[in-house]
Amino acid sequence: MPELPEVETVRRGLAPVMESTRIAKADVNRPNLRWPFPDQMSERLTGAKIERLRRRSKYILADLDTGESLLIHLGMSGRMLISGAKIGQFTHDHPPAEKHDHVVFHMENGARVTFNDPRRFGAMDLLDTKTADSHKLLSSIGPEPLGNNFDEAYLIEVLKTKGSPIKTALLDQSVVAGLGNIYVCETLYRAHIAPSRKANKISKPRVASLVPIIRQVLSDAIKAGGSSLKDFRQASGDLGYFQHSFDVYGREGEPCKTVDCGNTIKRIVQSGRSSFYCPSCQR
Ligand SMILES: [Zn+2]
Repeated sequence: MPELPEVETVRRGLAPVMESTRIAKADVNRPNLRWPFPDQMSERLTGAKIERLRRRSKYILADLDTGESLLIHLGMSGRMLISGAKIGQFTHDHPPAEKHDHVVFHMENGARVTFNDPRRFGAMDLLDTKTADSHKLLSSIGPEPLGNNFDEAYLIEVLKTKGSPIKTALLDQSVVAGLGNIYVCETLYRAHIAPSRKANKISKPRVASLVPIIRQVLSDAIKAGGSSLKDFRQASGDLGYFQHSFDVYGREGEPCKTVDCGNTIKRIVQSGRSSFYCPSCQR
């Protein structure tokens, strides 16, 4: 499942070919993904200009000049692939249509953006731009970790109310937006906090230390183009490569990367998800 850095990587890849450009034609090749598409989706998109391509948590939002915003969720395996536009030094030719190309955006500038999703856990919807943030999918999401509303005072206050393990609390999208299993594991290792520690029992300075660490982990991952574990591709089709920088995630039984630690990374299961951590470095 793509987390914030992967979605932000896709957004940054799409922005140069989609922003400030009209959708000359939108092909909608099936009635639904995870949920039914909105009525007349193709007609409502065709001819619309994308004024801004933004991200909220793990959702991409294309604000259109029609007063609507296209909401895009990549699901488990969704890809937004660009062709016919210069990306870096290369121009990717339009590939032949593939079986799971569900929505195709033909941009006025000649670029094509294809949403391909074999497992169809992705989603698209059209929202009123003015009230988009209060849409049921977005209204209960907590602050953006890279935004101004996420700070030490906020995190201390909200974690005071959480008797769950810190791992679980940070995965709670109402606490902070967009963090998933990978980046919470990496954050807790860098913060030297054990994933099983109760959130409301962690001292204020240690909770405060999480804020810059979360920002750094996410920024590092975005810089690396996200993490490609199974299906994730950037909009250019390239793999992300932050997975080569994991300190703990997926490293069960391997040596801890902290100099002179000597312990190995352990895995426990919390709320049905694997937590990777070093029992010596994280308390
Ligand atoms: Zn260690």
